[in-house]
Amino acid sequence: MESISKHDRIQMQIVSTCRELGFEVKQEHRGKGWRADVFVRNNDRPIAFEIQLSPQTLRKTIERQTKYDNDGILGCWFFETPVFKLNQERPDLPLFYVEENNGSPLMVNLGERKKVDLSTFLANLICDNIQFRTVAKTKMVQSVKVAFYEMACWKCGELNHLFYVATPFYSSCNAKIKPEESLWGSDSVVYMPEIISLVKSFAKANSDLGLNLASIKDRYSNTVELTYTSFGCYKCDSIFGDFYVMDAKIDAMYDPELITCQGEVELQDIVTLDVPHWCFPKNGEQFCNNN
Ligand SMILES: [Zn+2]
Ligand SMILES: [Zn+2]
Repeated sequence: MESISKHDRIQMQIVSTCRELGFEVKQEHRGKGWRADVFVRNNDRPIAFEIQLSPQTLRKTIERQTKYDNDGILGCWFFETPVFKLNQERPDLPLFYVEENNGSPLMVNLGERKKVDLSTFLANLICDNIQFRTVAKTKMVQSVKVAFYEMACWKCGELNHLFYVATPFYSSCNAKIKPEESLWGSDSVVYMPEIISLVKSFAKANSDLGLNLASIKDRYSNTVELTYTSFGCYKCDSIFGDFYVMDAKIDAMYDPELITCQGEVELQDIVTLDVPHWCFPKNGEQFCNNN
């Protein structure tokens, strides 16, 4: 008994989903120098789906894509394995990865950002809910984890608790945004008022933990002869130099037993990172954008 191939299963699902959505669909449809696995008639923008499970070079894929382009058709590709030399997502090539585990539904994988079943993906692609963006932008409400670590004051010896943000931020399409990769610099994240207030209310609500939060403010450093936002001793207000703080933080990151707190913060500033991607925001949320 011959089982139906994966290629055919994907093809059948594209056909049935698009028909359910009310579109006219053709299989193995031919045009000028191309033949689409599934061709969807759509007045503004016909779509040609190509299921490419055998390896195909980037060059060949672009070459075939150009033919669709020339005919005003959106070519959309489903690959199974990464395309060699395709190092980042491109606006001229809607290319996605399809996967299946143990006979479970076919899933489409958008990098690390999201995995959705093929039908949901198609419905959103056709309705233009998946668009190319060159940057990833933080969504307003972020769920963050903050970790506390200890540092003894170099001057009075008192034990202080410092903290760092242990989780990245995310865009509405679930792209990871690490502030340390942006212009912000990693240190400024802990100095954000919204993070500080989360930490303060956690310390207050959990007084049994005995957290003595180092205070954050602008202080003058004799070492670098500059004033900057810094951690300092909650008792004697001595500045904790950036170098020592960084050192203690790196040690702390390897400690599995740090006290942590989790919570939601509403960001007052937006962080964007250059991340070219096919943006598929969560229901009702906005695309990543420059402004
Ligand atoms: Zn002190
Ligand atoms: Zn996005």
